[in-house]
Amino acid sequence: MGVDVGGTLLKHGLVSGDGTLLSLHTLPSRSSDGATAMMGQLAMAVAGLQAEADHRGVTPCAIGIACPGTIDPVSRTLTGALPNMPGLRGMPIIARVEELIGLPGAGDNDANAMALAEAMVGAGRGFDSVLGVTVGTGIGGGIVLGGEVYRGGGASGEIGHMRIVPQGRLCPCGGAGCLEQYASGPALSRLFFERSGRLVDARAVLQRWLGGDADACLAVEEWAGWLAQGMGCALTLLHPECLVLGGGIMEAGDALLRFLEPRIRGCCLDLVATTVRIRRAELGTGAGVIGAGLLSLRACVGAPNSPERA
Ligand SMILES: [Zn+2]
Repeated sequence: MGVDVGGTLLKHGLVSGDGTLLSLHTLPSRSSDGATAMMGQLAMAVAGLQAEADHRGVTPCAIGIACPGTIDPVSRTLTGALPNMPGLRGMPIIARVEELIGLPGAGDNDANAMALAEAMVGAGRGFDSVLGVTVGTGIGGGIVLGGEVYRGGGASGEIGHMRIVPQGRLCPCGGAGCLEQYASGPALSRLFFERSGRLVDARAVLQRWLGGDADACLAVEEWAGWLAQGMGCALTLLHPECLVLGGGIMEAGDALLRFLEPRIRGCCLDLVATTVRIRRAELGTGAGVIGAGLLSLRACVGAPNSPERA
């Protein structure tokens, strides 16, 4: 079972050992209403998945949770930046889920789950080193090396909170000048507002950009420059074989990837710029659920048979 707990939605589904998403369902997460409300939704999701498994004649062996912030590997409690989830910090989310369903559980940051899914069965499959980045309301990242998420001291891959502007815009993480404040969806919306006086979301800005709107073109150019600078720093540090870009913003399509790619390469060390593959995520909104399912298998029953690698 894979569960992806977001600020708004709780996505969940059954995932097979080879990373195939057998089903994908959605409930309101109610995570902004506190731990009790969110656990109620989680219990409903898990009961639904158990009923579905019974109906299919399959037996779930583990449950994985993907969520914002960080799950402490020792205490297995939620820590880190949880700006949209007051009351969930310190919650022993994995133990609570294990009690609910009676299966071994595992959990990780949602961007790590997305990166693992894309690295194993999505746009990064076949590569040994993958950096996965989601660009949406925030900017998240995950590093996958040899089919495993690299966690370092716990917060590896938090690319959205790399400080790229000294004394820059304040960020909910407590810092200032973070990449997320300049290159996320809301940042693009703000850059467009500063030029046009019109307040629309990032998706609408990108639609205007595709249509040739002059203010949108200026806003997207500046936004892309910030995103490229962040990606260039991360790629030059890590030199992964593949960068997978996902999240709501990248749903604007291949035209946006073609626009971003030369700008990102232009911010990398030459050897990195000429060798790294840059791809758009393939798994869409189910990536977090797939990643959560794969994580649970790795943590609870050992790594599954890896998909064929190039
Ligand atoms: Zn930050």
